[in-house]
Amino acid sequence: MPLHDKFGRAITDLRISITDRCNYKCVYCRTGNEGALYGDLPFEDYLRMARVLVGMGITKIRLTGGEPLLRKGVVEFVQNLANLRPQGLKPRPEEAVRGAEAPLFHEQLDIALTTNGHLLADLAQPLKDAGLSRVTVSMDAVDPDRFTRITRVPGGFDHVLAGIRAARRAGLWPLKVNCVLMRGFNEDQVIPFGMFAREEGVIVRFIEFMPLEEDRVWSPSTVVTLDEIVARMAEYRPLVEIPHGRSETARRYRFDDGIGEIGIIAPVSHPFCGHCSRIRITSDGKLRTCLFSVWDHDLYGQMRRAASDEELAEFIRSVVMKKEERHHIGEPDFVPASRTMVHIGG
Ligand code: SF4
Repeated sequence: MPLHDKFGRAITDLRISITDRCNYKCVYCRTGNEGALYGDLPFEDYLRMARVLVGMGITKIRLTGGEPLLRKGVVEFVQNLANLRPQGLKPRPEEAVRGAEAPLFHEQLDIALTTNGHLLADLAQPLKDAGLSRVTVSMDAVDPDRFTRITRVPGGFDHVLAGIRAARRAGLWPLKVNCVLMRGFNEDQVIPFGMFAREEGVIVRFIEFMPLEEDRVWSPSTVVTLDEIVARMAEYRPLVEIPHGRSETARRYRFDDGIGEIGIIAPVSHPFCGHCSRIRITSDGKLRTCLFSVWDHDLYGQMRRAASDEELAEFIRSVVMKKEERHHIGEPDFVPASRTMVHIGG
């Protein structure tokens, strides 16, 4: 029986953070001086966790961090993940679009990676050859000076641009660029990113700022909302909305002339928890049921206590039944997540 939570949501997407170390210090993420706090595990431990979860219906795995490309051996790990074979029926794509709730088992595991792109230029082709399907690059400005102001790492812009172009040459597709908009820092980058999407042939996705940074500076006024982003971009060129799958996090838009696509991930103004299909494993092997969860469930602890694969599966099933219905951002009863983004992995 594929993995479902108590709200009937099929859990098919797994995110694995393979390190909480990062070579950038982005202002909306690492606002304090905390470095890596939890450390990381040997790849064979993540591989065993992934193998058990793929057997339970996981069809998409996204590698995150910190910065995952800092981990030596990441290419081999992707290769080993690509060798995992989900069991079951091949879905008919039109069923997914029509929103059929039937759990989907794919023949090929869909493996993706989120990176800040600094180390991507040399690794894009080897990752593709190892079985990586697609890559998302986090980039919060197309103005090099602004980029440096946000990441606090001089000279990073050229590395990231080279990484994006190498990923495109390697055929990692769709190639997405994620930009977290934060009022007072980069809300004026909306139109330049629209131009960038058209010129570079990448899908730029804007993300509303979420309260997951280190010293909790988030407030509703810092959020640049979906409606504001659409209005700003329309000053440049009209947008046409594209229908999207129910568990997709982004609203998708094409420019009126068909050149270029953008997306907007709006967890604050347009939450999408109702169709959430995600669970996460942190770099130290904790299972998290929601980005904003206040609980960490010790999956690695079960492994250290010599649990069998069946016992791990039972533990995972019991944890997923505790999955939160939704986040409570901006509500009086909102309780900050037990970890910040860099220690969860997005
Ligand atoms: S906030 Fe939690 S429940 Fe909502 S979409 Fe994100 S992970 Fe899923």
